[in-house]
Amino acid sequence: MVVAEKGVAPMPRREAVLERLGAFGPPEPYRIKMVEPVHRSTRAEREAQLAQAGYNLFRIPAEQVWIDLLTDSGTGAMSSGQWAALMQGDESYAGARSFYRFEATVREVFGLPHVIPTHQGRAAEHLLFGELVRPGQKALANTFFDTTRANAEQAGAQAIDLPSPMASEQVAPFKGDVDLDRVAAVLRSSPGEVAAVVLTVTNNAAGGQPVSLANIRETRDLCQQHGVPLVVDASRIAENAFFIKEREDGWASAPVAAIVGAIGECADVISMSAKKDGLANIGGFLALRDDALAERIRRRMVVTEGFPTYGGLAGRDLEAIAVGLREALDEAYLAHRIGQVRFLAVLLRDLGVPLLEPPGGHGVFVDAGAFLQHIPRERFPGQALAIALYAEAGVRSCEIGSVMFGADSGSRRPELVRLAIPRRVYTEAQLALVARAFASLQEKLASVRGVVIVEQPPVLRHFTARFAPV
Ligand SMILES: *Cc1c(COP(=O)(O)O)cnc(C)c1O
Repeated sequence: MVVAEKGVAPMPRREAVLERLGAFGPPEPYRIKMVEPVHRSTRAEREAQLAQAGYNLFRIPAEQVWIDLLTDSGTGAMSSGQWAALMQGDESYAGARSFYRFEATVREVFGLPHVIPTHQGRAAEHLLFGELVRPGQKALANTFFDTTRANAEQAGAQAIDLPSPMASEQVAPFKGDVDLDRVAAVLRSSPGEVAAVVLTVTNNAAGGQPVSLANIRETRDLCQQHGVPLVVDASRIAENAFFIKEREDGWASAPVAAIVGAIGECADVISMSAKKDGLANIGGFLALRDDALAERIRRRMVVTEGFPTYGGLAGRDLEAIAVGLREALDEAYLAHRIGQVRFLAVLLRDLGVPLLEPPGGHGVFVDAGAFLQHIPRERFPGQALAIALYAEAGVRSCEIGSVMFGADSGSRRPELVRLAIPRRVYTEAQLALVARAFASLQEKLASVRGVVIVEQPPVLRHFTARFAPV
């Protein structure tokens, strides 16, 4: 308008600029104070590294990686507030000031009275299931995260995934929900046989898909009717709450912190890896209602984790988590975080890269089986794509398919590659580089080759196996 009044010729590029601006997500609610250089490798370097690493990206030194999307666990950037809090760490063995700050924060955020720090989420799971499970019992979940499953099974439980039928829909708002009918059926048919129901929010193993508050509340009701504890695996609870605010009827005007509180209200136990929505590089905790259970866990943990007021963490770690838990509830932070995941998903979708839809909270999941249709399942299309992406642009991703779960894990399981986005670490220009790498790969898809496994350990083979291209 202004342009026309001044008599300047109309600008034909204006529309193009507006379209480009529309591609950006919400802006960063922070500015950058400290930077860490990254190694911009050449293709020749990367090919040599791949060969030396047996084509396993877990074996590549992180220093060589240009953009590291292996995981969002413990890889986030801390804020100036967290770094300042580190200096306040009280390293007293028992009853440190840092513990009381941490305890007050967890109580306030989740509303459960007993707070027990642990060195990671899996340590919390180990302690919890060790006290909760009688061998032979069942444990039910929307989907167990792999360490949660391993700890439930090690305690003698049969771990059963009961994802909602929506999980296999093309697009649905709450694909992370648990199947309430099947939970109710198991609880009814096996009285006294179910040790716990676990809701993983967001549902990590199912692509970071959210669980609705309605589903959480109905699960709580079922658990109460049958006297079974409800455990909420809250590792990504802030991201889950953000999706509830966006998508679930009645919650649009509620603060995310209130939604997290409403989830906490339903839980008998909260188990959390602080390496995700705790915005910390290490740590985890349990929060519980049951006095006797909390006491038994405190007694047990001294053997493996440490005294109950530090749980295997330094006082400064407890400080960083206490600050991080609150920062994760900031809605401008969450809008930017989830916006980054969507930014990458939209670029890839518009390029025609097949994805798990809608994108979840912590990463973009590419359907490698559909992307590399010329590579059969026995030649690991997910691993082939992860290798090709690294060779192309130094982008490290994670195969979530037949390498990770074993070839006989059910032929319906998709062959996925996860591009996990670390919190507050990469810019959109760096994510655009990832999309550009996919665009380049599309021009030479036929040259991407499958792999065979040449060496593998008996368990958790994805971490250390060696591959060779065919
Ligand atoms: C990471 C994670 C865990 C385990 O936590 P660690 O801190 O890695 O031990 C448990 N549950 C979920 C959903 C997770 O994502």
